[in-house]
Amino acid sequence: MPLQIIRNDITKLTCDAIVNAANPSLLGGGGVDGAIHKAAGKGLLRECRKLGGCKTGQAKLTGGHDLPCKYVIHTVGPKWRGGQNGEREQLQSCYRASLRLALEHECQSVAFPLISSGVYGYPKEQALKVAVDCITEFLIEHDMLVYLVVFDKSSFQISEKLFADIAAFIDDKYVDTHFLFRRTQQDGRGESTFVGATEILPPQESERAARSAEPFREDAAPSDLHKLPPVAAKTTAAPMQTMEFSLADALRREDESFSQALLRKIDEKGMTDSACYKKANVDRKLFSKIRSDVHYHPSKQTAIAFAIALELSLDETKDLLLKAGFALSHSSKFDIIIEYFITRGNYNVFEINEALFAFDQALLGV
Ligand code: ADP
Repeated sequence: MPLQIIRNDITKLTCDAIVNAANPSLLGGGGVDGAIHKAAGKGLLRECRKLGGCKTGQAKLTGGHDLPCKYVIHTVGPKWRGGQNGEREQLQSCYRASLRLALEHECQSVAFPLISSGVYGYPKEQALKVAVDCITEFLIEHDMLVYLVVFDKSSFQISEKLFADIAAFIDDKYVDTHFLFRRTQQDGRGESTFVGATEILPPQESERAARSAEPFREDAAPSDLHKLPPVAAKTTAAPMQTMEFSLADALRREDESFSQALLRKIDEKGMTDSACYKKANVDRKLFSKIRSDVHYHPSKQTAIAFAIALELSLDETKDLLLKAGFALSHSSKFDIIIEYFITRGNYNVFEINEALFAFDQALLGV
């Protein structure tokens, strides 16, 4: 099962275990530790007193007391002392030891705060990377739903350069499609004239528009349609042509469903099913549903997560999405960010999610 990065207060989560970024005494402190003890009540402190403390990089388990979770796993992160003093290994050890304890207690879901990234001063970006790497490494071998809880937005922020680069890309693409009317030079009256079929539309309509803006040639027989040369997305196609194309297109694509296309692509790429759904950050049960239901209709995020896991090109991604009834449009920031990563050959679902998060978009996977 996958890793989910969420913004929340960890004490509010209903899952089998939450992890506490504790101090070596295990007797409570500030930050997330204080919040957990406050919400769990005095019973937690009484139980912690019996544990005899905990060393850096290790983990100990208690009950959840008044919290909505069954267990609290207390782990002691390293204090940041410049990064050359084994901090990374100690932080890795915190995640691994906590996940091991969760596994031993048959937890199906566990939530982590970003250990050491508060009072202990570990740089947030690096702390996030250690967390994501350790958790994904664990999830290759084990089935568990792991939440990484980022409390404040700054804990989960891409570098300024990447942010600026993506923002510029979004601006470019928006400029590309966000003018529907253009002042005509010729008529001299400065009246607005319709110049294109791509425009700012609500998401559903823009998807429909993007689909109908696919290549169309009137004289082509249906069986030739797949051979058509690409036509620029900005089209002034008459409404009738657009409708005809949509029908022909729909009929042509009817023969392969999303799940069939997905399974075919997995085979073509020589991947195993589990490697694919894990890389997509998609739950095993959901993948089984897709596998067994030929007409399964995934969410757009799930469909894109698979395209990313399969490292599809932009055209292949659009094709796979179309089979689930979706398109990538320049009227949506989410879509443009996806396009940004695919065209740069960056298929790291967690990096993509960090960028989506930074731009307040829905995240990939389940
Ligand atoms: P440490 O001493 O290991 O640095 P802190 O509690 O100071 O631990 O901070 C660890 C991380 O937990 C920080 O990123 C902080 O923002 C976050 N945090 C604080 N309170 C909560 C909470 N209630 N839920 C989730 N995360 C929290």
